[in-house]
Amino acid sequence: MPLSLYDSLTRSQQEIRPLDGETLRFYCCGPTVYGPAHIGNLRTFLLQDVFRRTVEMSGLPVKHVRNLTDVDDKTIRESRARNEPLREFTRGWTERFHRDAEALNMLPPAAEPAATEHIDRQIELIRRLIERGHAYAADSGSVYFRVSSFEPYGKLSRLKEREITTGREREDGEPIDADEYERDSGADFALWKARKEEDGDVYWESPWGRGRPGWHLECSAMSMAYLGETFDVHGGGIDLAFPHHENEIAQSEAGTGQPFARHWFHCAHLMVDGRKMSKSLGNLYTLEEIQAKGHSPMALRYALTSAHYRQQLNFTLESLHAAESALKRLRRKADVLMAASGLDRGAFYDRDRLLRHGPPAAAPFNSVWNRLLDDLNTPAALGELFRALSELGDRPENIRGDPPEKERLALDFAVLLDALGLNPHAAGESDAREAPEEIRALADERWQAKKSRDFARADALREEISRAGWQILDRKDGYDLQSAG
Ligand code: AMP
Ligand code: ZN
Repeated sequence: MPLSLYDSLTRSQQEIRPLDGETLRFYCCGPTVYGPAHIGNLRTFLLQDVFRRTVEMSGLPVKHVRNLTDVDDKTIRESRARNEPLREFTRGWTERFHRDAEALNMLPPAAEPAATEHIDRQIELIRRLIERGHAYAADSGSVYFRVSSFEPYGKLSRLKEREITTGREREDGEPIDADEYERDSGADFALWKARKEEDGDVYWESPWGRGRPGWHLECSAMSMAYLGETFDVHGGGIDLAFPHHENEIAQSEAGTGQPFARHWFHCAHLMVDGRKMSKSLGNLYTLEEIQAKGHSPMALRYALTSAHYRQQLNFTLESLHAAESALKRLRRKADVLMAASGLDRGAFYDRDRLLRHGPPAAAPFNSVWNRLLDDLNTPAALGELFRALSELGDRPENIRGDPPEKERLALDFAVLLDALGLNPHAAGESDAREAPEEIRALADERWQAKKSRDFARADALREEISRAGWQILDRKDGYDLQSAG
């Protein structure tokens, strides 16, 4: 069964096949680094991470590029408000974003180009668009894309079906040049923005005078620089479909005459109390705030990715409690399968080994994998996963089969955890930590006794621990404690 994903351009589920037959070229609109990412932004990046992991586990290498928007209206405004040079200001928020991404177990992209480091590329693209008659410089020194010159404009967001007229909409002078403008406005948009007073020292020299690129341009210039004029999959939150992605298509295809992204992968919004989570509504959470409430990044990852990517998810703090108990069940099953197969944690979570092992081809885990292949259906996959795990039983002795079969089961499970990016043993995710101090002391003593081959003492201690309601699961490199309840 091939991996297929809904494509917002054709509005249909399409098989994911790389153009070059070898590597999937995947571009994602990255964060605007002017503040901490909120968990809505993080949900979109996490679902992109699940997609990438699933493609890689299916045996297809991915070249994942995710940009950093480090110059736009918001970054300039905020850095000036704080009296910090733009570069320093955005560097701090970029580092914070990297810490959040790592804590949430996101794989780093192959390249993370920043807009300010690719100004030449952007100027080059504007020059080409002017030459081809798709852009014009206004008296102010700003350059605009002429929407009426690009016939397919609106094909992604189906503007024509929504009866929106394109072309210049303001009669009194220049078109709109804010980075973010109202939905359904089909006006010419800025490729280059002439320097304004409030830009301070943020400007670059160009053939049209001092200024800076418009926001949409960076993604066209950088995706094509890193992935080629035509690449496989372009991702982002659904709010970006119009105008951002529509404009990316127009700039790129008008500039090169070639198709731009072959597949559009949009994630639905994270909501809070029925409203989109956003800075302007003031209803946002950051990872830091979630952690301050005592929840782990892994629980947040679980909660944000356990709903389908095309479905809006209404976030609640209760969903994190549910995620914590789900992770606990996964951790127990992983401990049982490790104990049964003799794999230690290092081997169980060794991604290279898992990539070699490949996706589950047989029961009970192949049905979980098939759910992921079918439009990345994470909720159905998790449902199937828990069903498959419940069939396996709760003790290492319950796992049937010869040693290679037990190892296969353990690795099949580990592959699925990796595809979902879930590590139920990540820092802050341990039952042993939850065991009371005296139980942990007894368990340590038993481990020492076992290592010094005092098996009678070790057994007596195991008995005592078990009477207190805890079970010990030995691994090669240590042990886990599970509460019997
Ligand atoms: P930004 O940092 O604003 O450029 O956004 C980064 C990513 O987060 C983009 O792909 C947005 O579409 C996405 N995004 C913004 N708000 C939400 C939300 N409430 N839920 C999910 N994704 C979002
Ligand atoms: Zn973009």
